[in-house]
Amino acid sequence: MQERLHEAEILADRTAAESAESWRQRDLSVLWHPCTQMREHPGTLPLVPISHGRGAWLVGHDGRHYLDAVSSWWTNLFGHAEPRIAAAVAAQAGRLEQVMLAGFSHEPAVRLAERLLDIAPREPGRAPLAKVFYADNGSAGVEAALKMAFHWFHNRGEHGRTRFVALENGYHGETIGALSVGDIPLYRQVYAPLLKEALFAPSPDAWLAEPGQSPAERAEQAAAGLAALLERHPGEVCALILEPRLQCAGGMRMHDPLYLRRARELCDAHGVLLIADEIATGFGRTGTMFAFEQAGTMPDLMCVSKGLTGGFLPLAAVLATQDIYDAFLDDSRERAFLHSHSYTGNPLACAAALASLDIFASDDVIERNRVTAQSLRALSAPFADHRHVADVRQAGMVVAFELTRDGDRSTPFPAGARIGLRAYRAALQRGVVLRPLGDVLYWMPPYCIDADQLALLAETTLAAIDEAVACA
Ligand code: PMP
Repeated sequence: MQERLHEAEILADRTAAESAESWRQRDLSVLWHPCTQMREHPGTLPLVPISHGRGAWLVGHDGRHYLDAVSSWWTNLFGHAEPRIAAAVAAQAGRLEQVMLAGFSHEPAVRLAERLLDIAPREPGRAPLAKVFYADNGSAGVEAALKMAFHWFHNRGEHGRTRFVALENGYHGETIGALSVGDIPLYRQVYAPLLKEALFAPSPDAWLAEPGQSPAERAEQAAAGLAALLERHPGEVCALILEPRLQCAGGMRMHDPLYLRRARELCDAHGVLLIADEIATGFGRTGTMFAFEQAGTMPDLMCVSKGLTGGFLPLAAVLATQDIYDAFLDDSRERAFLHSHSYTGNPLACAAALASLDIFASDDVIERNRVTAQSLRALSAPFADHRHVADVRQAGMVVAFELTRDGDRSTPFPAGARIGLRAYRAALQRGVVLRPLGDVLYWMPPYCIDADQLALLAETTLAAIDEAVACA
């Protein structure tokens, strides 16, 4: 009731000039949106001005509610405007909003580093991740990890290790270095002349398994490909970078954790560092705090961002072993990691992250997510029989639906049919945000999603698929 009154007040405050349509026009006259062909706005692609958010809902300036089934690009964990995180950010803003982290320190940065190291994946007998380097978005975190890996070898006198191995269909961000280790043509093709070509190893993606091949067998096959690649380039590679368990931007493709164990063994055998990009998979998305845990082993460097702050503020962190850190210690500045961003370890973002980690503990989030994941499984299972759904797959709190013309792997819809976009529009019309990846629809909801919202999500997904394919 209180919440409703609050919403009514916010809406009442909007003057006529600030109506949804007016915001849309003002937006289009000044803004250039990310990952968007601007020409498609607003005809082909709706532009929805959002006034506020509450729980799993985003609320438009016109008062319409939208269920945020993709957690606002996989950032939001506990719902929009989560009061405990909002309060922590407000309290920190009244105390210290920013200080450069070179030569200075602050409590939230230290406390957050301690807590991240405490929850990071471990393997008995291996030295744990021991140091935290902050950056301010996912791509910047990936850049820092790549540079660290190269520089580590450089500091040890191994100057020939200048190449990175990445996985086919992987994604690590949009900056030049991160794009170089990404393999999604849509994002990288135009910029290819600018990129430092990575070595791409076969993806362990279970969707690519041959008939009769299990996900574990597919993982073994891909690991054999990685082994062969590393053997062809002795002494040239400084690191392997991968998205553990789930290649998100590549279409929510999932693989058996066995692959991560094999990758760990191969990196050790070839003296190559292993970088886990947990930017999208971290903080409970795949069922465990970090996806790497499912393999019972750990990386040498781990990048986190997105859910790190519960979805409130941009922040990234690179976790490194003591051994990596130690190689940068010297009397010369050249051996130091001189990488920096102005907002490195911003106190507001660190305070949001600390509040988010408190919620994990106080609300027993990972355990509660197991129950929600069971509901996701039950609600998504019937889609496997849909005549246009070729695959329904799940990793913890993520479910993906692969849409094809005949519901099998060999009949993709023609790209021009834009089935994913049509489904997006149909779902949005019904008040659910289902931003697709090509013709893959997926659910990656905030963890606070309730039973009614889950039912709405499933019902709307079905209606959106049916509407999208009806016009194909
Ligand atoms: N790595 C992965 C696995 C990602 O999913 C993303 C973002 N989608 C990034 C890196 C880049 O993060 P950001 O968008 O914050 O630069």
